[in-house]
Amino acid sequence: MSRTMIEKPFHPATLAAQALGHVDPQTRAVVLPIHPSTTYLRDPDNGYSTGRVYARADNPSFEQPEAVLTALENGAASMVFASGMAAATAVFQALAPGDHVVAPTVMYWALRNWLTGFATHWGLRVDLVDTSDLDALRAAVRPGETKLVWLETPANPLWTVTDIAAAAEIAHAAGARLAVDGTVATPVLTRPLDLGADIVMHAATKYLNGHSDVIAGTLTTRAADDFWARLRSVRAQVGGVLGPFEAYLLTRGMRTLFPRVRVASASALRIAEHFARHPRVAAVLYPGLASDPGHAVAARQMAGGFGGMLSVRVAGGEGAAVRTAAHVRLWKRATSLGGVESLIEHRASIEGPTSPVPPDLLRLSVGIEEAADLIDDLAQALEAAHG
Ligand SMILES: *Cc1c(COP(=O)(O)O)cnc(C)c1O
Repeated sequence: MSRTMIEKPFHPATLAAQALGHVDPQTRAVVLPIHPSTTYLRDPDNGYSTGRVYARADNPSFEQPEAVLTALENGAASMVFASGMAAATAVFQALAPGDHVVAPTVMYWALRNWLTGFATHWGLRVDLVDTSDLDALRAAVRPGETKLVWLETPANPLWTVTDIAAAAEIAHAAGARLAVDGTVATPVLTRPLDLGADIVMHAATKYLNGHSDVIAGTLTTRAADDFWARLRSVRAQVGGVLGPFEAYLLTRGMRTLFPRVRVASASALRIAEHFARHPRVAAVLYPGLASDPGHAVAARQMAGGFGGMLSVRVAGGEGAAVRTAAHVRLWKRATSLGGVESLIEHRASIEGPTSPVPPDLLRLSVGIEEAADLIDDLAQALEAAHG
């Protein structure tokens, strides 16, 4: 076991930079060893005095990234999973057939597809609603029947903002739990548990790891309660566990989370402000803009920035949007988000005909390059697409 050298009185950025300061007590290494073992030695009396039996249930390599995230989210406990989808679907799998859940109309599309397809087939009753409209959310929640309200804020790829504290009150008044997909805001900008959420989920593939080289997911809970125990057994039984090497990479990624997110947020704001006035752009969707419908709530529940994600609607429609993406030289034309390299993507063609995403929309994931280079490159691509 490692020794925790630093904890709460320090700022979250400090805790992250040192990954809580864990040091290997045997070697005094400042980076903890990776544990590849799938199994653990049993005691002569047949017991397991270490508590470790088999690595589908647990692995010492999970402990450091889980402890770091628990500290950053101000939670009671965390779990790492094999992907963001494994983490998110575990929350719904811990419910019972017939349970009612409410989720946003505009959200990470693969999870929306899973909810309306697979989860519904397995007996969950799923209602999708515009969660940014609190009256609509209140009307969708059924007291005593709704067991879970799922939020994503800011939500992919329109960056719709939902008031977490208000949604928590609505969910709790109906006897439901509130879970928040915090992938885009990251704990650097928003701590959903402090605002009343019960569970926060991350696609750690994105900002937490931050280098586009690990698929991972996480859950963090406000209380180590019965529901959390059920979630732990879902991970152990269904087996969506992270590999030990990926767990190590995730810890390494989280050590630079704060500077990465701060740079990306500052650049995203500059890019949003620049292109909001650009003749080849019909609209910029970014909660950091004062004109954005989510700005007031975002300003309240996001501290230190509005995140690294924005979308632009290209004047000239779908053709001009696709041509713009074709002409970038610096931005990488690829899906995903939250890496150090900036990505650009035409979302509607990825999400297909059931998508609520306008066809002229390009999603931008801002990395940590010089913002002026990103602005110049997108500007030349918009011109080239027009001419
Ligand atoms: C990517 C993503 C997911 C899914 O994560 P994976 O690691 O790809 O399974 C869920 N929610 C959001 C907001 C995402 O961006």
